[in-house]
Amino acid sequence: MTRFIFVTGGVVSSLGKGLASAALGALLQARGYRVRLRKLDPYINVDPGTMSPYQHGEVYVTDDGAETDLDLGHYERFTGVPARQSDSVTTGRIYSDIIAAERRGDYLGGTVQVIPHVTDAIKKFVVADTDGLDFVLIEIGGTVGDIEGLPFFEAIRQLRNDLGTERTAYVHLTLVPYIPSAGELKTKPTQHSVKELRSIGIQPDILLCRCDRPIPEGERRKMALFCNVKPEAVIPALDVGSIYEVPLRYHQEGFDDVVLRLFGLKDVPAPNLAKWREIVDRVLQPEGTVNIAIVGKYTGLKDAYKSLSEALVHGGIANRVKAELHWMDAEIFENEDPIHRLEGVDGILVPGGFGERGTEGKIAAAKWARERNIPYFGICLGMQMAVIEAARNLAGVEGAGSSEFNNYKVAVVGMMTEWQRGNQVERREHGGNLGGTMRLGEYPCDLLPGSKARAIYGVDRIGERHRHRYEINIDYKDQLERAGLLFSGMSPDRSLPEIVEIPDHPWFVGVQFHPELKSKPFAPHPLFASFIEAAVKQSRLV
Ligand code: GLN
Repeated sequence: MTRFIFVTGGVVSSLGKGLASAALGALLQARGYRVRLRKLDPYINVDPGTMSPYQHGEVYVTDDGAETDLDLGHYERFTGVPARQSDSVTTGRIYSDIIAAERRGDYLGGTVQVIPHVTDAIKKFVVADTDGLDFVLIEIGGTVGDIEGLPFFEAIRQLRNDLGTERTAYVHLTLVPYIPSAGELKTKPTQHSVKELRSIGIQPDILLCRCDRPIPEGERRKMALFCNVKPEAVIPALDVGSIYEVPLRYHQEGFDDVVLRLFGLKDVPAPNLAKWREIVDRVLQPEGTVNIAIVGKYTGLKDAYKSLSEALVHGGIANRVKAELHWMDAEIFENEDPIHRLEGVDGILVPGGFGERGTEGKIAAAKWARERNIPYFGICLGMQMAVIEAARNLAGVEGAGSSEFNNYKVAVVGMMTEWQRGNQVERREHGGNLGGTMRLGEYPCDLLPGSKARAIYGVDRIGERHRHRYEINIDYKDQLERAGLLFSGMSPDRSLPEIVEIPDHPWFVGVQFHPELKSKPFAPHPLFASFIEAAVKQSRLV
């Protein structure tokens, strides 16, 4: 029997609903249950693919090529369950499907309305593809009271009637602020937010209370009384030193016990949390530090590189060190000698990105890393920049650039218009729609025997996730290889370069895909583990 846990948020946004859901998923999994996490996003964009990373943070890409909310990254990092297209939906997607159906005449002339048509579509999404699962956790984006969230709240309200109390639970995440002048924790915002929830017909079963200090028993009882929940169902969610501590803390506070009791599940064995203890121990008790420079564009908003910074933490976990991240705006290096800022770093990472701004700075950073034998990791755009740098400065291709930008004479990186996915040929056009024109999702890649990439992965064929429009131009492969850049990963049909490396360098690797999307704290991605290992070696040199 599949049970559904709905996670809503109140009081303010940014309380970490995604993390809370992911951590509860991990705890249930640690009890032996099969779980899946899903996200309902009330905004009108069809998906986050076209949204600015400044506003929305990273776009998380799934194996099946969906561009989704970064919370799906948390879900995957905490449970290891690969997210799918069917785990993320927005108001925009629901409405565009309904409007398309209406235009086709599927409603046979009936009036199409929010209730029941929109709510039915949401409910269908929630319960679809859940065979064999014990728990599905569904996070509702935004905060209770938001206008655009109403159809989603209504849909999950209806689901309790449809599925029954024994198969549904509502968890509400709130904030319990401390007011210094009064010297008190305040429960009123939580009371109000629950009142709001009840006014639309939802009585939460569990309150998860974010707070910067322990919540005294009196306050807990007060919230239980005013919000109509059991006192043990008021769970404090205090600030922690590492996000990977959250499952352990929740367990200490009895969160998973309360959930199981709510569903009438008795005599369930205690969760096996050994792996989480090990992770937290390695994160909080590192044996050293390495300094990694991230030369990118959206460095002002860390959420824009969420999976990347987590993957670097995982690389640190693998090597028992802390990866200290130094965010640098690439544009700086267009006017300034990199030595001022890059001198002394143990590794340089140029992440993915779009658009021309800052690219010459990224090329300068790649050059610096190559010439000074500093470990360099180029991801997607970061690989393209390294290839352009090698073309210009190693292979002597004057005016080498990317057709994504204006300043190129020779497109060493160019737009591919046709490529193979499975048995299908996919096509895209220059100047086509911005949404949905990229090479997206998991693609296979063959690793060259004897290469560093092959040694790092330990297998001949890998599958990694992509999100880009441009590719390294295969016509330059021979010339670049003669100049010292090895193409060590290729698409199985040998048309798309996926990995390049410099054999004659301590660690210089560029990948066309996004390995950070698959890294997990309990299974650090081999490339990140190896990059941090190289940075550790580099740090011992100086
Ligand atoms: N802008 C580049 C492209 O579209 C790189 C994209 C990326 O780094 N994700 O190919």
